[in-house]
Amino acid sequence: MKEKNESMLMNRRQFLATTVAGSAMLAGGVMGFSAHAAEAPLFELPILPYPEDALDPYISARTLSFHYGKHHRAYVDKLNELVKGTALSGRPLSEIIKTTAGDGKRVAIFNNAAQTWNHSFFWSCMKPKGGGAPSGELAAKIVGAFGSFENFKKEFTEAAVTQFGSGWAWLVGDKGSLKVVKTDNAVTPVAYDQTPLLTIDVWEHAYYLDYQNRRKDFIAAFMDHLVNWEFVAENLAKA
Ligand code: FE
Repeated sequence: MKEKNESMLMNRRQFLATTVAGSAMLAGGVMGFSAHAAEAPLFELPILPYPEDALDPYISARTLSFHYGKHHRAYVDKLNELVKGTALSGRPLSEIIKTTAGDGKRVAIFNNAAQTWNHSFFWSCMKPKGGGAPSGELAAKIVGAFGSFENFKKEFTEAAVTQFGSGWAWLVGDKGSLKVVKTDNAVTPVAYDQTPLLTIDVWEHAYYLDYQNRRKDFIAAFMDHLVNWEFVAENLAKA
């Protein structure tokens, strides 16, 4: 068990080291390339930072198993298939996202690259026994930007609730300030030089098995019991 924990920690560190600036490629054991002689490396599904049942009852093992094991895996596999043999093969994930953003001819590559990145980031935004309010510099920055933590929570929740159809709500760093934004479908702040600090996936696949159409209850559970504020603070430190 100790070995397993250390291995999960290491993967989390690798993930933090490579993704949080929003500009770095996802590399190492979490979202890295596997080496194949004479072939461009492939993206790999990252290892979850916790067991699949660790977020229960707020996100069930069944939901996480489908969301991570089926949906996230499908984005990674499709991305590998789509970039194979193209000029994007072997390029860092963030570069693929930025290069294909807004390119009508490469929508599928953008969607799968962005969803690969977004989901890897989302898993680390949560932890068992998370949620509540942040502390330290992050808390001060949030109060500075939104007036109070409660105001931030309200704005973030509102963005997540009102995202029409599939998408994401985010806390981002943008030119030195903090903002709440929401994005459609696969769209990610990474494409627009904003630094993601926190996100919630509000595609139905993220919550429907546990909450059916009660998206608001899923968001409340995320805020109150799941947010990994240490991860958010680390992202802020690198913004
Ligand atoms: Fe998702």
